[in-house]
Amino acid sequence: MFARKLATQVLRRAQGASLNVLTRNTVATAAAPQPIQEPEIHFNKIFINNEWHNASSGKTFETVNPSTGVKITDIAAGDKRDVDKAVKAAKDAFKLGSPWRRIDASQRGLLLNRLADLIERDRNYLASLETLDNGKTYANSMAVDLELTIRCYRYYAGWADKNHGKTIPLDGNFFSYTRHEPVGVVGQIIPWNFPLLMQAWKLGPALAMGNTVVMKPAEQTPLTALYVAQLIAEAGFPAGVVNIVPGLGESAGAAVSSHPELDKVAFTGSTEVGRKVMVAAAESNLKRVTLELGGKSPTIVFADSDLDNALAQTHEGLFFNHGQCCCAGSRTFVEGKIYDQFVERAADLAKKRVVGNPFDAQTAQGPQIDQEQFDKILGLIESGKKEGAKLIAGGKRHGDRGYFIAPTVFSDVKDNMRIAVEEIFGPVQQLLRFDNMDELVERANNTIYGLAASVMTKDLDKALYLSSALRAGTVWINCHNALGSQAPFGGFKQSGIGRELGEYALEAYSEVKTVTIAVPKKNS
Ligand code: NAP
Ligand code: MG
Repeated sequence: MFARKLATQVLRRAQGASLNVLTRNTVATAAAPQPIQEPEIHFNKIFINNEWHNASSGKTFETVNPSTGVKITDIAAGDKRDVDKAVKAAKDAFKLGSPWRRIDASQRGLLLNRLADLIERDRNYLASLETLDNGKTYANSMAVDLELTIRCYRYYAGWADKNHGKTIPLDGNFFSYTRHEPVGVVGQIIPWNFPLLMQAWKLGPALAMGNTVVMKPAEQTPLTALYVAQLIAEAGFPAGVVNIVPGLGESAGAAVSSHPELDKVAFTGSTEVGRKVMVAAAESNLKRVTLELGGKSPTIVFADSDLDNALAQTHEGLFFNHGQCCCAGSRTFVEGKIYDQFVERAADLAKKRVVGNPFDAQTAQGPQIDQEQFDKILGLIESGKKEGAKLIAGGKRHGDRGYFIAPTVFSDVKDNMRIAVEEIFGPVQQLLRFDNMDELVERANNTIYGLAASVMTKDLDKALYLSSALRAGTVWINCHNALGSQAPFGGFKQSGIGRELGEYALEAYSEVKTVTIAVPKKNS
């Protein structure tokens, strides 16, 4: 009985909290499991060749529960020596004739499907571990992160034997065709905001295309990535195909981006670190680089929109995952005619958002990830007040321990204020006013970023015009955060290079080889 009640609560909360990200076609099971409040930690070392290793230096770092600020456990701190070992293992696994190079493409798909099944088996444990380490609500961990992670592995499992080359009508007497081969040994560096999902976005296409991997998870959230490592071994991936080296960015991360024997580095994180990764890649061996970076995405609300939907979309578009989304709608432009009404209702929504223990089914917002982000966000809130924006909700910490921040809304925000220019990566909504379309397009595009944008209107002409005028990798109309494995995701401008997800991500993990065979002339 209790389980069923909890299931309903979890589902309701997840629907409210995640809106479009939630996979709405999932069949609800009658009894969702209860969260494991104190999940046991099984793995805290470095995963190389399907085995666990201490750091070469013997050093460790702490991973912390952001709800309390208290250490969860110590993690082996990999550095250059460990990355070297991992690269060697991944290179051996990629050698011509190795088990990984010899298996059928369809079998790579089978392994990915097995991995998805194992994650599904341990879904409740993983969701609980994610909530413990990251602070996101258990409801979202279950309904969004785990659901999308499992779907992502299954999606790329399907691609493993469907990445076809072409036959080419080359001039002359030739049979010419392309092969889509793996890039080789790939380094992947991932952030803390969606640890399991970012791991899946990276591993899915890399493994489907037959690459081998050295991955560095974020120092704040290594736990779920390491648990998945064990599932990778259990699924039957050959040793060395996936190697996971937890560690700090400046040591383990830098060793990946500058490694002379990695063929590619894929990075998700801040624009600042993305720039360093690209420099390191260029200066070492010109390895291929794909980057998914920051954003300052506009959400645009016209007076003719369905106002209830526009409020809900822009609210969740910013506050989902505690504002810690690269595609957070952190500049909300509202048409003058409805501005005052919108401001009032947006503030009400923020004030009603329940902040607290992320394991509690009523909670919509848990803590920010760490002290550094917490301080940065409060600093930006102060700058908003000083620069003359009007604080209409929140504006301060919530509670007295952990890294909780009250959902915050500023109105009367001007384009040049720091809160309208810088990525805040926290629960702080900016409401700006606009009065005509030309001014709006220029202002919305006036940013170094170009990750996403959304437009709320019932007018198809406006929607179509803006979907082409906005310089962003994704434009949502009457929705925000509608993401899934099938649709490519990535940034224009300084929001990144390349695309993840969908068929497009396969390009980032394959090299095109042209093979041309001279065809003997008839009767010659
Ligand atoms: P971050 O500080 O850039 O860190 C990302 C990863 O890079 C972490 O694993 C980090 O290690 C590592 N790193 C740090 N310094 C490095 C260096 N010198 N060389 C190589 N690696 C290094 O970003 P974050 O704070 O974790 O994540 C938030 C940012 O990610 C936001 O800006 C957000 O917009 C962006 N993001 C973008 C997308 C997208 O798809 N576009 C998705 C999610 C997040 P440590 O953990 O030790 O610092
Ligand atoms: Mg942690």
